Amino acid sequence: MAKEAINNQSVGNRNQFFDFEKKQCKDSKATVILKEREIYTTESQTLEEDDPTAHATIHAIRKTRLKERKFLLNDYEIELSKKPCDMCLLAIYQSGIKNIYYTEKETKKHILLTPKILKKAYTIWEF
Ligand SMILES: [Zn+2]
Repeated sequence: MAKEAINNQSVGNRNQFFDFEKKQCKDSKATVILKEREIYTTESQTLEEDDPTAHATIHAIRKTRLKERKFLLNDYEIELSKKPCDMCLLAIYQSGIKNIYYTEKETKKHILLTPKILKKAYTIWEF
């Protein structure tokens, strides 16, 4: 009985996670910027590429790296139409991008992505 309850709790949490993710990155748009110059703009490609990881942020980072022939995008910024999900937030961090701009409730917000902010985001799912 106790084991079943734990399993049900686990499934509930997983569903909650996916709902959370859909709200954040579904139908999102991303633009990578270098010194106020638009380098690459894209939308989520999850359906087109049949790839659940092809959120706009991930796609924009991959395409910008190829276009600019750079491994890291340290000097670049990213502008998103929605708050990034956990996967995208970590991808942005791994790419070297520090400044994230996104729109939430018609307000433009900024995140300076530091290791401390990343840890906080993963700890309480908010930043
Ligand atoms: Zn995402």
